[in-house]
Amino acid sequence: MRNSHPECPECGSIDVVPIVYGQPTKYMLEMEAAGLAVIGGHFSTDKDLDWHCNECEHEWSDNPEKARKPGTEYNGVPLLNH
Ligand SMILES: [Zn+2]
Repeated sequence: MRNSHPECPECGSIDVVPIVYGQPTKYMLEMEAAGLAVIGGHFSTDKDLDWHCNECEHEWSDNPEKARKPGTEYNGVPLLNH
């Protein structure tokens, strides 16, 4: 999973973690506590962001198409395709 991590486009750090959305599970909370993930909604209301930089707090999406597409969330439940 680490080999799919991008570098931060802002500062070039590789200390980047995925942003996960939805009802936080125990696993997600453990991942966040361990610094391996960020649960969406804590830092941003933009549900189209994929990555969080632990160095500079920058958050971004690696999928510009998704960022432009409306309706990625319905009734508070993110519609994830993966
Ligand atoms: Zn950064």
